Amino acid sequence: MGGAAVTEEEYLVSRMRGFGTTIFAEMSALATQTGAINLGQGFPDTDGPPEIFDAAIEAIRAGHNQYPPGRGIPALRHAIAEHQQWYYGLTYDPDREVLVTAGATEAIAATILALCETGDEVVVLEPTYDSYAASIALAGAVLRPVTLHHPDYRLDVDALRAAVTPRTRLLLINSPHNPTGRVLDRTELTAIAELAVERDLVVVTDEVYEHLAFDREHIPLATLPGMRDRTVTISSAGKTFSCTGWKIGWVCASPALVDAVGTTKQFLTYVNGAPFQHAIVTGLALPEHRIESIRRNLRDRRDQLSNALLAAGLDVHPCEATYFLTVDVATLGETDGLAFCRALPERIGVVAIPSSVFYLDPGPARTLVRFAFCKRPDVLDEAVRRLAGLGTSMRSGTQMSSDVRSPA
Ligand code: PMP
Ligand code: GLN
Repeated sequence: MGGAAVTEEEYLVSRMRGFGTTIFAEMSALATQTGAINLGQGFPDTDGPPEIFDAAIEAIRAGHNQYPPGRGIPALRHAIAEHQQWYYGLTYDPDREVLVTAGATEAIAATILALCETGDEVVVLEPTYDSYAASIALAGAVLRPVTLHHPDYRLDVDALRAAVTPRTRLLLINSPHNPTGRVLDRTELTAIAELAVERDLVVVTDEVYEHLAFDREHIPLATLPGMRDRTVTISSAGKTFSCTGWKIGWVCASPALVDAVGTTKQFLTYVNGAPFQHAIVTGLALPEHRIESIRRNLRDRRDQLSNALLAAGLDVHPCEATYFLTVDVATLGETDGLAFCRALPERIGVVAIPSSVFYLDPGPARTLVRFAFCKRPDVLDEAVRRLAGLGTSMRSGTQMSSDVRSPA
């Protein structure tokens, strides 16, 4: 190579280009600075089941404060295996087929780093959860998006088939899906499974919202014919038990796949969250009706936000699951969701996430905006009151108010 030597700074800037502060961190910081209601980053504003918090405190007091075993404490690996058996009829060996990780985020990164070589292609659903693109880039692999087109966000099976090439190493599927709130149905999952079997592909499934599907049953891809041993199933306690800060995630897969992911995990975090691992054993042992009531509560929040935004004249897309619903702000005369979201805290005291950040090329998705509904009813009511002002000011042609700034 000719020319001047690249400085360390130039190298670092170019290496991390495109991977600056995540939109979630940017928008949460904006909420803190402005005192706006944070419907951006997906985290609940109330605690989950009290038993797990007591169990975490007990675990700390009982001295579970040093490195746990590399694959996770045996009790948690057994609890995860039992969970897969109870809910889905999937059998995993807790010693060889389960790995505890630092949230689903580490599970995703470790899986991609373990399985992909430079130049390998990873086919992902678009809109794409942000850490996928970063993990794929860190592995030197290439992201091939298959777009779920709004407003129904159904999988285009022909587009999926066309995205698979001889360089395809992985399919990375997320259902229930962030940010669209879609739950892939059996027809869509069968098409993915058939393609994976036909092309002998490994599929990674991110199922962190497995218990937050309201209107359609969540079907793990690993339950479909031919899929159990070619699927890396990833989930996390954060969403199910409202403890996103604890970062206890897991991987269930065949022994060879778990070995590969575990080897990578060793050199990322080595181990994580000893006392919280004990607490999640308690969480996974809770009776099914407790998880059902968490789901019902969240479904009510979804309905509260969705109905209120619809009544305010906003264009709300249907949402079957997760913490999130999508609004098209084009009907408000907006042309750029990112600019809209950056201005929203100052204008009306609400923070949201521009869905465009989940696309390589957002095209018509440029005006979509994601709102989190995993918040207390009074907080959602206040947010809706503020958001309703947007529709009113549009219809009356008046300026939007910028004086609503008090925190909820
Ligand atoms: N996948 C998806 C689709 C998510 O929305 C999130 C965010 N919670 C994660 C993975 C990361 O999960 P965790 O917090 O367990 O790392
Ligand atoms: N999964 C969360 C969301 O989509 C964000 C988690 C994070 O900030 N990494 O809002």
